[in-house]
Formats: sequence, structure tokens, C-alpha cells
Amino acid sequence: MIELIDSHCHVDASDFDVDREAMLERARAAGVTQLVLVGASESLGQAQATVDFARSHEGVYATVGVHPHSAAKLDETWWPALCELAALPEVVAVGESGLDFYYDESPRPVQEARFRDHIELAARLGKPLICHIRDAHELAAEMLGAQAKGRVQTIIHCFTGAPVDAQRYIDLDCYISFSGVVSFKGASAQPVRDSVALVPLERLLVETDCPFLAPVPHRGKRNEPAFLVETAKVLAGLRELELPELAAATVANTRRVFALTQPQGTCI
Ligand SMILES: [Zn+2]
Ligand SMILES: [Zn+2]
Repeated sequence: MIELIDSHCHVDASDFDVDREAMLERARAAGVTQLVLVGASESLGQAQATVDFARSHEGVYATVGVHPHSAAKLDETWWPALCELAALPEVVAVGESGLDFYYDESPRPVQEARFRDHIELAARLGKPLICHIRDAHELAAEMLGAQAKGRVQTIIHCFTGAPVDAQRYIDLDCYISFSGVVSFKGASAQPVRDSVALVPLERLLVETDCPFLAPVPHRGKRNEPAFLVETAKVLAGLRELELPELAAATVANTRRVFALTQPQGTCI
């Protein structure tokens, strides 16, 4: 069976309350051996819950960070505690943090300030940084170039930009992760598809970002890690690779960037 790792998911979301363990079982049956459970916390309690979830599920690895949507909610009372959580040895990355100028749920200057805080935290801890960037690629690349380059290994998750944006991140040696968006048929996803071939194979990642962004043929439904193979198939096609080759490259890349150990047999 083809092995895959979901490099970005939110399997602790309430969307999975009804069938969480069955969903993880389906992931394992579909060859997804490890999952990176990304913190997009709106509170300190939520970040702690993400870490606890990973601790109690083999093959699930937590990250800690505050989503740009929630940047304005982050205050001095819980940032120090969040930094302590991020420093735990079992927390594999800082994030997701970044800039989302599409939804603008937090004021832009606040998003920028919190993004800087997360970059500094990742540099201090020597951990990779997961970046959520939407409609702000030029500024994000500028900030990463000034503050992160050579100090922090960065991952641009759920890449939604154009080839010119991908090239900026490639020049900064970022990993670039693609979600089910690459499988969408509409013209708006074409720049994302056009970017796939530019990314060096050793910097390519694949993710679900579940419960969001289910790939075709599941589009519109709740997404889950078992659907990851559909996105991997599209990436393989765009790169003119066989699926096993594409899958093996993304597995190796995910293990390298997050320093995951190879599981003994299949787990989750
Ligand atoms: Zn995100
Ligand atoms: Zn996410």
C-alpha cells in the first residue's frame, strides 16, 4: 500500500466529535501512517487540548500556534504559557501563524505583529514554522526573508498563490504544502496547479487541512485524512510522476522537516 503523511490537519476539530476514532481508523486503512495536528488555537485551553490529543494518539504530532484569524484575541496573559507548550519536546513545530488578508478577521497590523512573534519563537526553539498566508504573499515573503531566512525552516501550508508567489518562497528555501485546492476544476485554482511543478521535489508536502477543503471527488463534504490520496494523485499527475514516487517524496519531506520518527509498522 502507498504510505502518506498528512502534513497539516485539524482532527481535533468538533466536526469529528461524532466519529473521531473511526475517522482515524479510515486514515490508517488508507495508508496515512502519521498526522501533523496543527494548532490554530483561539485560547490557551485549546492549545493544551491539541497537545493532549497528540499525546494520547500514536502517530499524531502536535504543533502550537495562534491562527491569524485569532491574532487579536492573543494577549500577554496566555502568550507565555503558549511558548512553554511550544517548547515541549513532543511539539514538532510552531504554528499555524501568518497573514490572512482575505478574511481580515484580525486587524492587519496585529496579524503582522503576532506573525513576527511566532517567527521569533520558532527561531528561539529551533523548530519549524507553519505559515498560513492568504492574499498576502508578497508581504509574507518579505517578512520571512528579513526575519526567518537562515534561522527558521518555514512551511507555507495550503498554498493558494500564483507561480510568482511560489517562486518567492522557493527562493527562501521554504517547504510548500498543497491541499485539495489543486484538485478543484475552476479557473481560480489554475495558478495553484501551475505552481506545483516549480517546487523542488524535496520541498513538496501534501495535506488535507481537514475538516476543510475536501479534494475532488469529495469536494463540499467534510474532509478527512483518508481523502489525502486524492490530492496526492493530482500532484503526481501535475509533476508527471507515478503516485508511489510522489508519495515517497512527500513522506520523506514531512519526516525531515518535522523530525518525525518512522513508525514501527502502521500506527495512528
Ligand atoms: Zn491555515
Ligand atoms: Zn490549518
